[in-house]
Amino acid sequence: MNNIKDLLNNTDLKATPQRLAILEEIHKAGHIDLETIYKNISQRFPSVSLATVYKNIHTLRDRGVIKELSIKGAKPKYEIAAQKPHHHLICKVCGDVIDIEIDTTFLKEQLKKVEDFEVSNCDIYCYGICSKCKGKSNS
Ligand SMILES: [Zn+2]
Ligand SMILES: [Zn+2]
Repeated sequence: MNNIKDLLNNTDLKATPQRLAILEEIHKAGHIDLETIYKNISQRFPSVSLATVYKNIHTLRDRGVIKELSIKGAKPKYEIAAQKPHHHLICKVCGDVIDIEIDTTFLKEQLKKVEDFEVSNCDIYCYGICSKCKGKSNS
């Protein structure tokens, strides 16, 4: 992406400094929860309230600019929606969220065959231990 502002191009949302700051935080982090976004933003905008950040994040989510990831046993995280389709690996030890591209053609074919179910899209979340944490427990 050339400019973080471009993310708002297809919406009627104004590119307010706060919205751009929120998008920057999400873009920088990859996946980030609301409290962390607020914490980082309030360093640049000390007067901004959690309620305002909350409202902006939900507006951006509802307009499809960002995507909310519902992670079992953790707070939802947000990512930029305009990305290659991907799925997520979640480390139960450090909480890291890792993007992964999985070909779901086989899954879709199976569901069509077994359940006559037409999949339009699917989000796969796999929970486990990442390579960094696995290394730690072995030593
Ligand atoms: Zn880990
Ligand atoms: Zn992701």
